[in-house]
Amino acid sequence: MLRGDLEGDDLEQYVQERIITTTLDKATGWARGNSLFPATFGLACCAIEMMSVVGARLDIARFGMEAFRASPRQADLLILSGRVSIKMAPIIRRIYDQMLDPKYAIAMGACSSSMGVFNNYAIVPADKFMPVDVHVPGCPPRPEALMHGILKLRSMVQHDPAMGWRERYGAQRTVEVLPE
Ligand code: SF4
Repeated sequence: MLRGDLEGDDLEQYVQERIITTTLDKATGWARGNSLFPATFGLACCAIEMMSVVGARLDIARFGMEAFRASPRQADLLILSGRVSIKMAPIIRRIYDQMLDPKYAIAMGACSSSMGVFNNYAIVPADKFMPVDVHVPGCPPRPEALMHGILKLRSMVQHDPAMGWRERYGAQRTVEVLPE
């Protein structure tokens, strides 16, 4: 039957099978969640596990995220893969501030989430000086665990259009971790 000959229920079914209606927020959330660009940034041993998510086995390219960017201005995801020293914290915060909105952060591993085995005066957890969206536990987390965290973030980005925009933090947090 030619399409022009369809009528009544047949026409309705034909249209329902071929047309998707959505909101602009949902469409942009879907696109944004499937095109996160992580910053090329490794801090310590966890970074070795992070690198393996771009390999053939886990293949982060399946989710449109394989393009690790060398400039924070081209990245919208910061993966803190390792321990953060107090001297490094202001630099990380500056990199984060240079990323354009909307932007997201994952604290990968025990060190960047809670100082881990290096629980001493020289280390600081990431969420003391910048917003963190997802914490991935482990020392180091397996690459599969990082993938799980990334996919969790992807789902959050797709379902919350307000996520990642600077306004959500209210008054900007400042770096307060430097010793006097
Ligand atoms: Fe290294 Fe473990 Fe800390 Fe990761 S969590 S940076 S593997 S010590």
